[in-house]
Amino acid sequence: MRRRCYLKSNEVVPEKEQPMSDLSRREFLQSAAVAATAAAVTPELAAQVPGGAGKGALPVVISSANGLRATQRAATMILEGADTLDAVIAGVNIVEEDPEDMSVGYGGLPNEDGIVELDSCVMHGPSFGAGAVAALRNIKTPSQVARLVMQRTDHVLLVGEGALRFARAHGFEEVNLLTDGARRAWLKWKERHSDCDDWIPPPDPAKNDTQTRAPVDLPFSYGTINCCALDPAGNMSGVTTTSGLSFKIPGRVGDSPIIGAGLYVDNEVGAAGSTGRGEAVIKVCGSHTIVEAMRHDMAPVDACLHALKRITAATTESRLRREDGRVNFDVKFYALAKDGRFGAAAIWSGAKYAVYADGQNRLEDCAYLHERPAKAQTRDAGS
Ligand code: ASP
Repeated sequence: MRRRCYLKSNEVVPEKEQPMSDLSRREFLQSAAVAATAAAVTPELAAQVPGGAGKGALPVVISSANGLRATQRAATMILEGADTLDAVIAGVNIVEEDPEDMSVGYGGLPNEDGIVELDSCVMHGPSFGAGAVAALRNIKTPSQVARLVMQRTDHVLLVGEGALRFARAHGFEEVNLLTDGARRAWLKWKERHSDCDDWIPPPDPAKNDTQTRAPVDLPFSYGTINCCALDPAGNMSGVTTTSGLSFKIPGRVGDSPIIGAGLYVDNEVGAAGSTGRGEAVIKVCGSHTIVEAMRHDMAPVDACLHALKRITAATTESRLRREDGRVNFDVKFYALAKDGRFGAAAIWSGAKYAVYADGQNRLEDCAYLHERPAKAQTRDAGS
């Protein structure tokens, strides 16, 4: 017996991309006034919203530092009338499809076995919709699959083989996500990460060695893109997408596809997302913690710092602590409030984030908990 059926049996199933503007009318149009306002926004109209074209003008789009192209594309689409979720997904698609970005989508660093496994989730504020995929192989744009999980299933999260079959059913093209650059980085890691196996790195010509076991100096790296947007009608959405921790154990899932950890959106309050050590973010429900702090009137940047302090306080494992007692990894949080305020913070200084606000697209400094030491001792090389 089908428990609930939202689709008519004769409904034509659009393939692959299903923009909110075409699909979720069933929820979105429940708020006809909101939909009408959002659909009618043009650059000219945007300039007329409270705050005008100057300071405080909407939309606002924020992202991790690797998302400068994403914030620009998302803001442009919102100004042309796109739904915020379609806009942020189109924004991160640029990075997912970029073979040069080794932290997200196509070209992302693979797992221990040399296979790229991707994680992503989305949240749509007006309908309070959520969808996610984890450990998804062979598909360049997991964020689009996550949107379809939200729109075309009664579930929130699909993983592994099931997620791939679902993507296939919706017509996504399968590709080998492992670019040559990512394969070479993986091989280097494989050959040097242990001196107790049968893998041997190439000889070091400087040392005239025939067989070298170089000391392990290839830190695991993190890297992800998060992007959240607020449109002139006051609607918000967000997306997070990643290839996750490099050289991870196959099947490992980080925070990025976990609703409440790598992303959370409440259309009445705000949106937040994360990059960095996912295990730490999951344990404090990082993005949800930030949105709840904003609900209780904390400013976005303070809410991010508040969640980071939770993480550092909760990290008891000695393997995750440096000699001075501070954590040896990084996490970054990005937050956007319903009223248009925004901010970001990292555990360690020096991080940036991307933002489109007041009609300008730019990088800004993240707030931070600790000054980064001259010689980095953290595992984070991510965005
Ligand atoms: N948070 C991601 C994960 O743990 C990685 C990252 O953001 O760099 O999978």
